[in-house]
Amino acid sequence: MRPERLNPLFAETASLKGVGPGLARPLEKLELTRVRDLAYHLPDRFVLRRTVTDLDEASVGENIIVALTAVEYRASMGRGPLRVLASDAPGNICSVAYFGRNSGWGKKQLPIGEKRWVAGRLDRYGDMLQIVHPDHVSEDSAQMLGQLNEPVYPLSEGLTQGRLSALIAQALAAAPELPEWIEPGLLDKMQWPAWRDALALAHKGEHAEARDRLAYDELLANSLALMLVRNANRAKVGTPLAGDGSLRAKLHLPFALTGAQRRSIGEIEGDLAQAAPMLRLLQGDVGSGKTVVALEAMLIAVEAGAQAALLAPTEILARQHFATLSGMLAGTGVNIALFTGRDKGRARESILMGLLDGSIQIVVGTHAIFQDTVSYKNLAMVVIDEQHRFGVGQRLMLTQKGKRTPHCLAMTATPIPRTLTLAQYGEMDVSRLDEMPPGRQPIDTRVVAVERMDDVVGALARHLESGQQAYWVCPMVRELETEDIAAAEARYAEMAMRFGDQVVLVHGQLRPEIKDAAMERFVRGEAKLLVATTVIEVGVDVPNSTLMVIEQAERFGLAQLHQLRGRVGRGAGKSTCLLLRGSTLSETSRERLALMRETQDGFRLAEEDLRLRGGGELLGTRQSGDTPFRIASLEQITKLLPLAHDDARLLIERDGGLTAPRGEAARLLLYLFERDWGVQLLRGG
Ligand code: ADP
Ligand code: MG
Repeated sequence: MRPERLNPLFAETASLKGVGPGLARPLEKLELTRVRDLAYHLPDRFVLRRTVTDLDEASVGENIIVALTAVEYRASMGRGPLRVLASDAPGNICSVAYFGRNSGWGKKQLPIGEKRWVAGRLDRYGDMLQIVHPDHVSEDSAQMLGQLNEPVYPLSEGLTQGRLSALIAQALAAAPELPEWIEPGLLDKMQWPAWRDALALAHKGEHAEARDRLAYDELLANSLALMLVRNANRAKVGTPLAGDGSLRAKLHLPFALTGAQRRSIGEIEGDLAQAAPMLRLLQGDVGSGKTVVALEAMLIAVEAGAQAALLAPTEILARQHFATLSGMLAGTGVNIALFTGRDKGRARESILMGLLDGSIQIVVGTHAIFQDTVSYKNLAMVVIDEQHRFGVGQRLMLTQKGKRTPHCLAMTATPIPRTLTLAQYGEMDVSRLDEMPPGRQPIDTRVVAVERMDDVVGALARHLESGQQAYWVCPMVRELETEDIAAAEARYAEMAMRFGDQVVLVHGQLRPEIKDAAMERFVRGEAKLLVATTVIEVGVDVPNSTLMVIEQAERFGLAQLHQLRGRVGRGAGKSTCLLLRGSTLSETSRERLALMRETQDGFRLAEEDLRLRGGGELLGTRQSGDTPFRIASLEQITKLLPLAHDDARLLIERDGGLTAPRGEAARLLLYLFERDWGVQLLRGG
């Protein structure tokens, strides 16, 4: 149960003043559903504004406050903006532009002949000065002057800075004082403010100490929770599994294992022989051969008379794993089954029986394999594929079910940098497949300017004619997901005009059945071209697909590009990756694309990605979902995570039950960051 003193922070956003049904969706879109989320919705940056009386004194790009009087409205044709022509005191004319649905608003804000204070960014439109969508318009100068240094929050459609600021102010007022969970010596040394003060300061201006403190809290919560899980896991009893090698000897693999594969299997075998449940991460780039390692691990369990399960993130990947593993197991006598949420009736009953009586030794499936209705005779080994797609904590909790805790092997194709490995996986043991199977042809990677689109489509046509398949990836970058999907749909329509029904489309808003059906047509080779948003990032093995085109490649991070490129180069044939780029590129984008051409080493690209994204932005980069953090930036993670990790360890060593005053405070912290599964483990013992 969450401690009562945190209740004000976990109240619904809807309980705040001024939140009607109209705001519910935009707030949800930003995941601001509780007061706590608003308090932690930190500004991206701050706008400093200067008050000017004469527009001639201001420069283009500057944020200003100026008194303007509207002289004329000019509506544009079609979807153009409403332009309000307005004059400053000396008589300079400026166009204040209101686009789209906001155009009616312009006439309200700036009535003809009346003076208003306008705050916004001064731009140029042709040879005219302009301000697009002013940040504030007011009759009263004093109010505007209060906005000289103003936070800028990430927004979603339907929200304004003003509305959001007002809600955040309410959230901050509702935040209670909380006892200190940071070690006093550290707090002192870093000159960090107390929690509530830090929150308030972080919304007011660029207070590095306040920001760092809040980031540290998040890192500490994460380290603590992972450590509690790890400790609980160590205290659990698993089943020691010693295989006799009889089944592994019957495997007829068409290749010899690489050194890295043999080493990883050895490490797993060592863990499985212990009574303490294994908690191991198998990290290996796409194509490094994780599947066969998983298979050997599962066979050890089966040799020892137990059952093993492989959990895949999607149905299609579950099917693919099932097909691959069934093939490898032919002739071994091992009984393997596929179980997904879609099995119904007899088929479902029969699998459930087999799992219960132990006649099914290996099951492959989606999360359905862990539903309450599924019982196993003696499940002792669980493999989780593509770990990073799941909440790590929940996954770990999952393996805590049952009397005896199964051994757990998590596999990921994301070669994250070492610093982030700690953040994501805490104290998991790690095996790395840092050696590729022999005979891989390097992927021919080229950067092509988007102006050469016709050539690219021509090359694609020749590629498809030769009987090979291809991927075409449209980015998912704009603020509005619907626009991205519209772009992917438009591209699909264009391709379908040219290539007919050999083209399929896959994106995140399609119904799962439709998406899977499209994927399956492609996997079976009926469809030749797969147009997709980034949903194809994970999994999918189609060796005949040897061309990958990525549109607006400069918008992707290195790690993501690498992941996408990994979809090709899986067969014996030569593969090509075309990175389409826009006409203007930032220095960083240029460097990224050059690196993609230069190397295929995922671990190196991951480190470079961290380096390139680390610096630059004013207040630190916002997370893109590849770390478990929402507050801490990559820079802060690099700087503060080792401290948080040590601090967490000391705290748990001294007060493993978190019952002393600082331990109690740390419990609050775990709830605050919703790592309370850590606390629950303490309870459950
Ligand atoms: P991952 O899951 O790590 O992306 P897979 O397990 O799907 O990689 O393996 C990729 C391909 O490499 C498969 O076709 C597999 O049969 C093959 N493979 C795996 N290990 C070896 C090896 N030691 N030598 C040659 N080919 C291998
Ligand atoms: Mg795989």
